[in-house]
Amino acid sequence: MEPSNILPERVCPECGAKVVEGMSCWEQLGMIIAWEYNDPELQAEHFLTVAAYNLQHPAQFTDEAIAGLRTAFMERLEKNISLTWIRRRTARANEGSKRVRRPESERQIRQRHWHMTIADVYLPNQPQGAAGRVRAWAVAIRNEIALDTTL
Ligand SMILES: [Zn+2]
Repeated sequence: MEPSNILPERVCPECGAKVVEGMSCWEQLGMIIAWEYNDPELQAEHFLTVAAYNLQHPAQFTDEAIAGLRTAFMERLEKNISLTWIRRRTARANEGSKRVRRPESERQIRQRHWHMTIADVYLPNQPQGAAGRVRAWAVAIRNEIALDTTL
């Protein structure tokens, strides 16, 4: 007999973020992006927010796409290069390989423990300071990526 009160997954199987008020990490990302409308500082970090999220969910992307994203992310953090330049270069890089997403049958989700996840950025009803939390999250990812060449 199946117990009827099985709790849903309490953490993301890939990034390990905990469910916050019933919201998955993907839904938390949606909330942060919604905050951008009222927060120009957060909006200015949109690239970092999405890149950090994708780097913690690599299974859906091809190795090549993840490598390109990681490079752009590191450059953005370290040199603060312009987003226009990143977009132009990404567009060029993608011309050669049309496939950015891995077919579902080839995706292998591996959970990895991260020092920070989106659940540290999405604090319910606390949009204040979100841009700073995005930057702290991005720096934590950068530090972990720098130490781990198997990523
Ligand atoms: Zn996740």
